Amino acid sequence: MFAALTHPERPVWNSFETIDEAKLNAIWGTYGKHGAKHCGGNCPLHQLRWVRLVDCETPHLFAILSTQPQIRDTQYPTIITAILKDRGYTMKQISDTLESIESV
Ligand SMILES: [Zn+2]
Repeated sequence: MFAALTHPERPVWNSFETIDEAKLNAIWGTYGKHGAKHCGGNCPLHQLRWVRLVDCETPHLFAILSTQPQIRDTQYPTIITAILKDRGYTMKQISDTLESIESV
């Protein structure tokens, strides 16, 4: 079972039998690029929005993996990694990219 938040209009946790279903449905709350640092979602430019992980650009997915420790106890790392693999990344490329982000 793969648990993920779903329904951008009203986020709730759901469980999926397959990772493919989880990949398609999982959503992520974002304040936009640098929004959390800018205002934590308090200015009009950076309201919290929910987007599907599969609609996130690749750099955003890497940023989630590297900067969001609260996902470590969830299946988000597994789901995001699976999406990156669909986009042609190998596990080695994923871990190399994360290392290069974290060592900046
Ligand atoms: Zn802002």
